[in-house]
Amino acid sequence: MNKTAVADAGIKPISVAEHHLLAVFAHPDDEAFRCAGTLALLAQRGVHVHVLTFTPGQAGSCGQPPICAREELGAVRTAELQCSCQALGLEPPQVLEYTDGGLAGVAQEDGVARIAACIQAIHPQVLLTWLPHGLSGHPDHAAVSRWTLAAYQQAKDAGLEALAAVYYLAVPDSLARELGLNQLHTLPDQDVTVTVDVQPVWDQKIAAIACHRTQAGESPILQASLERQRRFLGWEHFYRAAACQPEDVLLWMDVSKLESASE
Ligand SMILES: [Zn+2]
Repeated sequence: MNKTAVADAGIKPISVAEHHLLAVFAHPDDEAFRCAGTLALLAQRGVHVHVLTFTPGQAGSCGQPPICAREELGAVRTAELQCSCQALGLEPPQVLEYTDGGLAGVAQEDGVARIAACIQAIHPQVLLTWLPHGLSGHPDHAAVSRWTLAAYQQAKDAGLEALAAVYYLAVPDSLARELGLNQLHTLPDQDVTVTVDVQPVWDQKIAAIACHRTQAGESPILQASLERQRRFLGWEHFYRAAACQPEDVLLWMDVSKLESASE
């Protein structure tokens, strides 16, 4: 389904000319696996997509074999994130200098204030972040998830006009079961709000993942068969955690909406 087909079906796609989405993460590469395709599709439709990452990922792998020295890793990973955002057609990312692995020890008001400043600057319609348990259970992911929801509440209470909803990246139970990904914190299938078919931007998504050269050995999915990769990476799932508007650009990407628009 493309934009033209939606228009041909007589359904007016919501105007995205002035819309911004802010994705809030902990590490460079958090954007790559579970939402990169959706971000690329939204960017194609004219949404300005911004990525805010709290750490430059200094505690990650330097690569196998190492691509850089440990003390250079933050700068290298920042460049990898810039490469990924460029591959997806997103705005240049903002990378904060918090310590990778240390976000659980950062004061809540400090984390929330950083996100609030970003919200004030760009007036996003949609906020996107990790599930409260971080999907992998990483405490950094859990911290940014908590802060993002709090920043959303704050912006909503302040009456920020553009704001519509906050979403969590999710892996549905059935997909994790099918692929044997027992270590992930998943979401019951019926709780998934938005499912996006990202196969039309498959090459862009793979290019974005490939930008994270230092982390290539860290993701078992990259060693899996192409069929398995397509199952895990070809669709992306989101949970609408809170909303103050009935519609938003992410809701419009849901396959069920696109299918009903073509009927
Ligand atoms: Zn991460």
